[in-house]
This record gives sequence, structure tokens and C-alpha cells, in this order.
Amino acid sequence: MMSSARKTKILLIGIDGATWRIIEPLFQQGKLPSLQRLVQTGSAGILKSIEPMVSPTIWTSIASGKLPEKHGVWDFVVASKNVRCKRIWDIATERGIRVGLCGYMVTWPPPVVNGFVIPGSFSRGPETYPSSLQAIRDLDMSQRSEQQKSAGAFLRLAWQCHQLGVRLRTFMHAGAALVHIKRHRDFLTKFFWKRRIGAQFYMDIFVRQARAFDTELSMYVTMLLDATSHNYWKFMEPERFPEVDPLQVARFRQTIAAAYESTDAAIGHIVEKLADENTIVVVLSDHGFQSVPEAQGRKPDRTVRILPEILLQVLGWNADDIRTFNIRGATFFRDRRENSSRIQEMRTTLESIHLAGSNTALFEVGLDPSNNIEIRLRDEIEQINDLAIRLPDGRVIAANKIIEGDTGGISGDHHPDGVLMVAGPGIRRGFKLERASVLDITPTLLTLMGLPVGSDMDGRVLQEMFDDGFLAHHHVEYVDTWEDNNWHYEKDAEVVTDELKEHLRSLGYL
Ligand SMILES: [Zn+2]
Repeated sequence: MMSSARKTKILLIGIDGATWRIIEPLFQQGKLPSLQRLVQTGSAGILKSIEPMVSPTIWTSIASGKLPEKHGVWDFVVASKNVRCKRIWDIATERGIRVGLCGYMVTWPPPVVNGFVIPGSFSRGPETYPSSLQAIRDLDMSQRSEQQKSAGAFLRLAWQCHQLGVRLRTFMHAGAALVHIKRHRDFLTKFFWKRRIGAQFYMDIFVRQARAFDTELSMYVTMLLDATSHNYWKFMEPERFPEVDPLQVARFRQTIAAAYESTDAAIGHIVEKLADENTIVVVLSDHGFQSVPEAQGRKPDRTVRILPEILLQVLGWNADDIRTFNIRGATFFRDRRENSSRIQEMRTTLESIHLAGSNTALFEVGLDPSNNIEIRLRDEIEQINDLAIRLPDGRVIAANKIIEGDTGGISGDHHPDGVLMVAGPGIRRGFKLERASVLDITPTLLTLMGLPVGSDMDGRVLQEMFDDGFLAHHHVEYVDTWEDNNWHYEKDAEVVTDELKEHLRSLGYL
């Protein structure tokens, strides 16, 4: 057989927040067949995370093999152009390897690669590389802002997403989800159903584009498990919490399991469509999960959501001029014309919204490095029910007109033990990995792709999982570094206060 021309391909699927603690019982029930097959046919174990245990930091270490002091990503405020070292797709691009990224953290604005980049939901703008893929990001951002799009504009985006790969069956699921959300208007129902359908849209487009670009290093990350685990843990393990509404327990007890099952089905589909006999499949999480009461020393936060579209109306701002979106606890306003005096005016207006009869401002207001105005509810505001706020023009309205929230707060938090599963040619079957770290992923993938490892990387090659056949024909090679002095990164603008950074960190970037 002529196999010399065949190159190893890597298919990496990141499931942010996945933990063996939930996977193993679901294996017992036979509910995660795709993951179980990977474990049986490959090597698997705990993947140790690093501090600070926030996803953008860890995913950047996964993609670079380097500690945060080298890559410079400490929280989710960082843009792709601020990363201080090369990541694996930069190295692959230099070597002419075709790359496809979808949903990977800290890839916005999208880097130019030999392939495609669709940044994830946490990006501040809709840009993709190439720009022909932007419809999925436009649709996601408009969905997150709930700004009223005209039916025509919405249909056009949906049609473009279909052209990019979203399958008709996914649209059918989206239709069913919309009906379900309409019937149950509460935050918790909407949150899960929307996130799940969003993940399916991204997955469909990733699969289609990875095939179209014939990518050799393909990386897809979904945040569904992380988002679900933060918000629904108390319904899964109500006994760990002082008081959880039994009606809500009945409704949401299975939500985290449903997220795992949906993710498992997605992984099965991706592997079926993209993996051939030369493909090594890597499934991993950046960290694991635990309940908030178990997570000592990590400060959780409530889940509140500012409704930017209502706020625009209340302030009399024109939705055509301003793009709005929510990322975790923060809300962003982007002046479409990027007019700096207009941005300053908007900031001043937002800063002047106060609690009625008090000098306490409602929002912490800042400007992010990309000139988006970023607002969050101030820490000292403990609850929003019965709260009245005073607008700049003197009107007084109820706070819950512009803010909604699950007052119970988040109940799941990050844990240092993530998951790693690797299967494919050259990988030992049924082998249990010990002592694998997020730092080891890039050195290991470089070796599998036949490229040398940078000696300045902080991880090691997970050689113990290579089978005899692989070891007979390959050995680990090193270069001093993959970095070059011309690597240009931009320092973060100093607009992000330490207070805000601390806040974001305490949320596990929430
Ligand atoms: Zn998280």
C-alpha cells in the first residue's frame, strides 16, 4: 500500500467544561456512545488545567503549549492580535498545512490562516476569515442582542447560513426550539434551548467548511457544557444547596445530561463526516466542573442579563447606528460608525443612569480595546426586583424593565480536572492516560503531524499513548523555538481596570 503520501490529519473537538464526573455515570447508562467509542478505541484520562482557570487563558495554552506569562492571555477581554506567541494554526499555516477553526477562543479578529476561521460566540465582532463565512456570526450576534431584525433580514441570514452548511434538520430543530421557548418564557428554558441550537448551527457550518477547505488541522470548540453546567448544577444536585425550588428541580434536573447527550451526538456526526483512516481524533476540555459549594475560594456570581435592545429604546438610541451584544455578565455597545465623540457621549449617558433617590450608578462603564462600550451591573446592586432607576432625562423606571436575571445565581464552577480522549492511527487502544496537562496538547499534536516541538514550550509530548507502530517510525524532534522576532502582537490598551479584571476572573470569566 502506498501510504507515504498520506499525512496524519488532526480533528480536535473542544468541549469546554466537560468532566468525567458527569461523563462516567452517563457511560453506565449508555447515553454517550460517541465518547465511549473514543475511550474504547483510544487513550483517555484526566487533562489537568492551569491557573487562572478561565477558558480563554486555558484554550490559548492548549493551542500554544505555553503558560499564560508567555502567551499573555489572562481573561476574555483579550483579542486575537494581543496573543504574544504563535499558536498551532500559525505554525501549521507556515508549513502549508490546511487549517480550519470554528468557535476557538481568542480567535477574533480572525487571524489569516491557510484555511478558515470562524471565531466563537464570545467575539466582539462578526468578522470571519475569509469574510464569506460571516453570516453565522451576524446571525449569532443578532440573536444575542435580540435587537429586532426585520423578518427579511433574518431570513436572508438564515438562507446564507444554509448555504454555508446549516442542514435542514437543524432548521427544523430551531423551529421546534422557538416553539418551546415561546411556550416557556423563563430565563432557564430559553437559555438552554437557544444555546443548544446555536451549537448545532456552528457545528453544521464547521463540518461543511472543513470538507470544502479539505482541512488537515481542524478544530471546533463548543461552550454548551460550560454554560449549562454553570447555570443548572443546583438542579442536578439539589441536595448540595440550601434551597432549590422543587418545581425547578423537576424541570431542569436533566438539563446538564441533555447537554452532554447533544454534544455526544454532535461529536458522533463530526467524526463520521470528517475523520478518515488517517485522522487522529482529539476530544478535550479546558477544565472540569464542580458545584459552587465544593469550589472553595472561587467567588461565584449571580446570573443577570442586561437587555440591551430595551435599553436602546429606553434611551431613545437608534438601533441602526448601534450594534449591541451580551457576553456573559457584560453588555456591549458598538457605534457602527466608530465615531469617537459619539462613543464618549454614549458612555456619559450610560454612566449617568442611577438608582432612583441615590447617587449610586447602576452600571460600571468601560471601553474595551476594540472601542466597544462595555457595561455591567455594579457589584453592590444585590437585587433588581423592586428597584427603581433614574434615567438621564429624569424619568424613573423599574430596573427589571431593562435587566432580567435568575436571582438564584450560578451553581456550577470550574474544577482543575478536565478530560482528554485521543483515538486514531498510532494511538494505543484502551490506554489510560495519567498526568496529561493542557500544556501537552500542542507538543503532542506537532509530533503527530511530523513537526518539531518548540523547546520553549512548557508541555511535553504524551508519548506513552503512541503505539509501537508509531514509535518505530517516528521520534520526537525539537527546535529551539517556533517564535520569530517579527511576530507582531498588540499590547492590551490600558482601558480595562484591574477591578474589572478581578471581577471577570472571579466569575471564571462568566
Ligand atoms: Zn465557565
